[in-house]
Amino acid sequence: MAELFDPNDGYTVTARKWRPRVFDDVTSQEFITKTLRNAIKNNRISHAYLFCGPRGVGKTTVARLLAMSLNCLNRKPNGEPCNVCDSCKEIMNDNRNHPDVFEIDGASNRNIEDVRELKEKVKYGPVRSKFKIFIIDEVHMLTGASFNALLKTLEEPPPYVVFIFATTSPEKVPLTILGRCQKFDFKRLTIDEISSRLRYISGEEKITADDESLFFIAKKGDGSMRDAQGLFDMSAAYCDNNITFEKLKSFFNLAQSDVYFEICDFIKSKDAKGLLGYFDGLMSKGYDMQIFLDGLTEHYRNLLVSCSTGNADLILESETVKKKYTEYISRFTELEIINSLKLILQTEYTFKFSSNQRTLLEALLVELIKFTDTREISQILEELKAIKSDSPVNTSGFKQQISSAPQFKSTSPADTGNSGFTGSAQQVKVSYTSSQYLNESAPPKQEPIAAVKESVPVVDISSAGGDLNTHWLSIKEQIKSERKWVYSIIKDSTFELDDNQNYMLRVDDGTYELVDGYMDYLAGKISKYFGQPLPVNLVKSSEFISSVSSFSAPAEKNSDGTVQEPDNYEKLRAALIKDFNAKEVN
Ligand SMILES: [Zn+2]
Repeated sequence: MAELFDPNDGYTVTARKWRPRVFDDVTSQEFITKTLRNAIKNNRISHAYLFCGPRGVGKTTVARLLAMSLNCLNRKPNGEPCNVCDSCKEIMNDNRNHPDVFEIDGASNRNIEDVRELKEKVKYGPVRSKFKIFIIDEVHMLTGASFNALLKTLEEPPPYVVFIFATTSPEKVPLTILGRCQKFDFKRLTIDEISSRLRYISGEEKITADDESLFFIAKKGDGSMRDAQGLFDMSAAYCDNNITFEKLKSFFNLAQSDVYFEICDFIKSKDAKGLLGYFDGLMSKGYDMQIFLDGLTEHYRNLLVSCSTGNADLILESETVKKKYTEYISRFTELEIINSLKLILQTEYTFKFSSNQRTLLEALLVELIKFTDTREISQILEELKAIKSDSPVNTSGFKQQISSAPQFKSTSPADTGNSGFTGSAQQVKVSYTSSQYLNESAPPKQEPIAAVKESVPVVDISSAGGDLNTHWLSIKEQIKSERKWVYSIIKDSTFELDDNQNYMLRVDDGTYELVDGYMDYLAGKISKYFGQPLPVNLVKSSEFISSVSSFSAPAEKNSDGTVQEPDNYEKLRAALIKDFNAKEVN
């Protein structure tokens, strides 16, 4: 590292103090620095360079290094500037005294008069260096007339002139200018690149900093080394040269990842009260609501990435946080996260325009709890596959298989705590678990689905987007408004079709006798609802098990014409698709 020249002989901000003095020190623009060094070595200098890229990635720094190297009095054989000659020193010292190197800010010198002045300077050769160098920062800010004036110079530049343009918006630079420049695209710096540079600087400066802090600062820098170094200075001052993540959290007053993990814990345990209380605590500490929402979005994005890829490699977080995400993968399904993320993004859209942002966030949090029940059909099928493969039954013997195979029972809304199945194109909400299938048995049934269809009355189940229970819910709502007492004894009941296509009203054993007394009324309501007389049987929950037949899949014909019975896995798959309007998520 070269000697530091500081005219103030006092505190110098990190970005300036640790500005690279040689090409080799420039962080992660190796392709550019190597190309430039080789050009210098081989004396193949272009008259105009255009450095493009986001802010704080080293465009001006490399422009100065190029100027230093071109005019260096003792240039090293590898093309690096010497750093000690007068020319090098003057350029390093912000070009205060260099007679042949000019740094111009395009934003404040954008008019034709400024360019005319520049052209005057171009006319005369360098005072004491080999090249007369013009570094124009934010060149895209020049006016059209200025560009035109500049173009004439670029078309026939004097041999001693080198222009180095820098811009964050190359698309605003006229093509006529672009065509005359050698263009270099500077890449955005990664968090790792920035944090390792900060690690180096903190070591040199005798500032202690934990990994998580440096990672946080690098991340806040958003690809800009200059911004990150500015934050590093602020953090060092605030933490008195001992930067810890704990102190930074209070300094930046930001909701950090542990906050979101805690929120997810509340969501997962469906603790709305705890969740809202926790959120209230954050708000009273002065957390910014927009930043909170941004953080929540990023958190779910991170969950999605770790869940989809099975690891946390693509997450821009410190190792500690990455580990936490890896541990969290098993707690959520991909579908659950996607749905939650969609909801959050919807809220983001309305958030900015809302006059009641806090309520919006609270509603969002409570709604996120609702998604914790969502399970993917593929997940259920996987579980069944596992059950099937564990089963000792002979898979070729269909009857044998059925007798010992798991049986399925459609769940009622009361069971799930949800408002019935809301199967959309991509999802099906199912709350039963595989263990439930295992403990029940029913006589084998081999009726193909075609026969089942014929015996079904003209009730279009799919029109309500779900099973019979969807209709039953509507009927129950009518009953609720008519006869509250009756409703109270049937509110947990379900309405289902048994093996023999009989309609069954399933009630808790304890309310069976009571409901029986109102069966005429209830059957009347049901028949009226479906527009036809419908015989309804009342059954006790403990006695009623819907058999596998209502889930049966069509039998398939083998190539030799023999009929192949579908296995249980296929039966369930067909049932989920038929009864729950489900689709597989790939
Ligand atoms: Zn030098």
